Order: sequence, then C-alpha cells, then structure tokens
Amino acid sequence: MIETKRWNIRNDQVYNKHAIEEAARLLKSGKTVAFPTETVYGLGADATNEAAVAKIFKAKGRPQDNPLIAHVATVEQLRRLVDNLPAYVENLINVFTPGPLTFVLKSNGACAANVTAGLSTIGVRIPDHPVAHKLLQLADVPVAAPSANVSGRPSPTNAEHVWEDLHGKIAGLLDGGPTGVGVESTVIDCTQDIPIILRPGGVTKQQLESVVGTVMIDPGLAHEKEKPKSPGMKYRHYSPEVPLMLVAGTAARIQANIDEQQIKGNRVGVLASEQVAKQLHHVEVRSLGANLHEIASNLYDGLRAFKQRDVDVIICEAFSEDGIGQAVMNRLKKAASRIIR
Ligand code: AMP
Ligand code: MG
Repeated sequence: MIETKRWNIRNDQVYNKHAIEEAARLLKSGKTVAFPTETVYGLGADATNEAAVAKIFKAKGRPQDNPLIAHVATVEQLRRLVDNLPAYVENLINVFTPGPLTFVLKSNGACAANVTAGLSTIGVRIPDHPVAHKLLQLADVPVAAPSANVSGRPSPTNAEHVWEDLHGKIAGLLDGGPTGVGVESTVIDCTQDIPIILRPGGVTKQQLESVVGTVMIDPGLAHEKEKPKSPGMKYRHYSPEVPLMLVAGTAARIQANIDEQQIKGNRVGVLASEQVAKQLHHVEVRSLGANLHEIASNLYDGLRAFKQRDVDVIICEAFSEDGIGQAVMNRLKKAASRIIR
C-alpha cells in the first residue's frame, strides 16, 4: 500500500494551481497520478520513464501487451514523439484537437518501450480538459495514461470510481468532478493512406469522414473471428460486478426479459434510456439519459452502480449505434455476458 494523496479541485484558483503543481512534481519524480480528462479519468506516469510506466501496469493489473496512450498538451509535443505526420492527420488535428481522438502513428522511440508494448507505433492524444491541460503543461513530459480503473472494470468517470479501484496503489488523484463525454477516445490508425478506426469513441466515424473522406473500421471490431489491430480490444472489458444481459427491442420485450429473470428468483437491476425506463415496472431502473450523449456520459457510472449485494443480473437496453452510440454499444457488447438480439 502507498498513500494516495487526493486533491479536490474546487473553484479556488490558488489552491488548484498548487494542487496541479504538486501533482506535476509527482509525475516528474516517477510517480503515478490520476487526473480527469473530457472522456474518462486517466492514470498518468512520465512516458519517458520506463520504471514509472511499469507502475501503471502494476496498479491496474493491465496485461503487458496492451499499449498505453501518450498524452501531451500541444501539437508541438505530439510532433516530438512521431516520425512524420501524413497530410490528412494535420487536417484531423486542426479540427479535432484538443479532443477525444487518439492518433496511432509511427513512433520515433522518444517514449519508453513499455508505453507502446513493443510496437513500432504509438498512440498520442491531446485531451480537452483544463485540469489535464495544466497538468501536462507543467509536467512538460509526455504522460502515458490509460483509464484509471482496475483492468477489466468499467472506466472511471468520476474521482470516486478511481478511489474505489486504485487508492493505496497510486501516488495521487486530482478530483476535478465528473468527466463529460463518458466514453474513451476514438483510436484511429494513421499509419496507412486511409485512416482506420481501431476503437470507436468520443469522435464519431461521420465526424471523421466529414474531414478526411473515407474512414475504415478495423474488421476486428465487427467480427469476433478477426484479430483486432488494437491489442486492448481483445480483452474482456468494462465488466460490472454481476452478469449483464443486453436486450434489443421495445420496452415490452425488455419487460418480458425482466419478468422471466424475476420468476427464476433473480434480483434484477435495469439500465435504460429515460423513454424506456418510464415504461418498465416492478423493477429497480436507472435511467442513463434521454439521448445518446447523455447515455454515453452516464454509462460507466450506471455499470458500477449495481452491486452484487443488491442484484443478481443487470438487464440493459441495446441502444442505437448511430453517432456516439457506436462507442456505447461497443462497450456494452464487451461488458455483456449475454446478448439477446
Ligand atoms: P485505455 O487507455 O486503457 O482506454 O486503452 C487504450 C487503447 O488504445 C487500447 O485499446 C490500446 O490497445 C490502444 N492503443 C494504444 N496504443 C496503440 C497502438 N500503438 N496501436 C494500436 N492500439 C493502441
Ligand atoms: Mg481502459
């Protein structure tokens, strides 16, 4: 166990400045610090320091072959980590950076080998969050930062989630309140002529296509038989404490599945859109929101909310795969132990 220092970033500029400076000093001295971004909380360490990066893998229990995303404050810093930027990447940077988009590019070796898990490419992102931005600016090194959860669990969208998973295992936690987007960044392979989405996320395929024309999707995302190009996509992920059933269809169909579970003697918790939640009865329902953006934002908190002591099974509505719904459904399919189409 190590002591985890927790800073509550309030509306006090002087306190905030000191807290973020202290967190940056911890990073520079090879320690791990969790911090908010616009997607989810990240667990950061100096990406140029192999021993510091190893602490991330240890704290999360992360498989060694799953590379980390390097986070930087500016486009200048991004350029310092990669060999060359294809022209279309410049366009994507102009439109979506800072933001929830991670570029996979040829690495120039500036980061420690364990950041890229031995790959010749590196994932780099410029987050759009004032606390993350200040921290990265002050640390003045690229910061390797996967989501700040124990591997396999839902990603953290508030500081409580991080504390639940990692206190005693990390040196610091900057509490900047709930994150906004709620699902992780879109990971896009930019090493070929046509960019390939390796992980759907905060920036949608349609948004990317509006800037660069054709965008492909890694076949490994759609078909279970194909090996995903992004090592992280092959692992079971986002798992709640109890089994999750993903159910497509109307409120009536979802209700039928609830009834069936309850007849078997199972205690049921439900995650659904506001519209569907209103139509269900005799069951504990958590509404995730009225539209796909709200659902993305509340998804991981919903997955963490139902505990083993209270329910035996979670039934979750299958949502539309439009826009950010693609990222939501990607996560839910991985979280699910059963999918009823
Ligand atoms: P996390 O930060 O935990 O949400 O996970 C980062 C995701 O980005 C994982 O799915 C990684 O496998 C993926 N990733 C990071 N770097 C690379 C890379 N160089 N090539 C392909 N995928 C990557
Ligand atoms: Mg993660």
